[in-house]
Amino acid sequence: MLRSLFPTAARSYSTVKITAAKPVDGFVGAIGNTPLIRLNRLSKETGSNIYAKAEFMNPGGSVKDRAALFVVKDAEEKGLIKPGGTVVEGTAGNTGIGLAHVCRAKGYKCVIYMPNTQSQEKIDLLRMLGAEVYPVPAVAFENPENYNHQARRHAESLENAVWTNQFDNTANRRAHIETTGPEIWDQLDGQVDGFTCATGTGGTLAGTARFLKDKSGGKTKVFLADPPGSVLFKYIKSGGTLIERGGSSITEGIGQGRVTDNLQPDLELIDDALQIPDEESIKMVYRLLDEEGIYVGASSALNVVAAVEMAKKLGPGKNIVTMLCDGAYRYQSRLFSKKWLASKNLADAIPSHLKKYATLD
Ligand code: PMP
Repeated sequence: MLRSLFPTAARSYSTVKITAAKPVDGFVGAIGNTPLIRLNRLSKETGSNIYAKAEFMNPGGSVKDRAALFVVKDAEEKGLIKPGGTVVEGTAGNTGIGLAHVCRAKGYKCVIYMPNTQSQEKIDLLRMLGAEVYPVPAVAFENPENYNHQARRHAESLENAVWTNQFDNTANRRAHIETTGPEIWDQLDGQVDGFTCATGTGGTLAGTARFLKDKSGGKTKVFLADPPGSVLFKYIKSGGTLIERGGSSITEGIGQGRVTDNLQPDLELIDDALQIPDEESIKMVYRLLDEEGIYVGASSALNVVAAVEMAKKLGPGKNIVTMLCDGAYRYQSRLFSKKWLASKNLADAIPSHLKKYATLD
């Protein structure tokens, strides 16, 4: 007799331990609750646990899905937008991508102003997600043609439209006080010795720092990680007295020319600041790929370099946490192009045994 293909008695499978998440409600329900990845090689090298929050696993592909959801929810709660309305934002990319997804899921139109220095991949993706995109010249915040001011004016010119103002709308940092911070705390059972990340709006650093400092009674150390060209490193180092402009970085989405309203209330929580040269960030993009199998953008790599520096400063045996903000897919035509890196004098930043990964022209 033929044996049944579907025997009724349960077979015994050898399975790995499963902690499967329950179904969630729509796109917005899938935001957050990202894994915390222990970076094994770097942990071994430093003698501390280097943990990185896998924000590239958010459904829109970046840490900014969290802020996008919170600024839209905030506008809804305040009655600033009604069904069928328009969300307008100035964004270097990831907030726009998060907003474009959230707007599609909630039935809003989405208009994005961005500096025209951003990668083509991000602009293309925004348009594919149904957003109206305006790349505009990258000018300083003080200039009325800065992309944020253009976004505000656009929203003001429409009925039923809101400028979500991610830089100074503190619903952004609230996303991290209410989600990122609690997730990290829970994932490490409250054993968080250090947290570091770079800032764009400052929402991630400020919100996460606020929660972790409050929960740990001030014990969790917080370091700002900054790229060249940003004013915050010197500002923090000088105790909030020096704003010095100059320099630039190939990292996208981070670096700031002013103290935003998202960062301001939590400045006193920042224990120290680290400035990470682009050479180190590029090298870490390649190391993370080669040693950990993790494919992330330059801001994530910068964060990991900062986490390693923090581990060295705090001494061994600590749990240090940072953020993997987005995947490298959004920048691959740059980060994995020998020609592009050479044009930024960064070709030599790739260690020679890792040059094989720079496969694009
Ligand atoms: N990394 C990337 C790639 C980003 O797009 C952003 C946001 N602009 C950040 C880091 C910084 O996040 P936040 O705005 O919360 O400071």
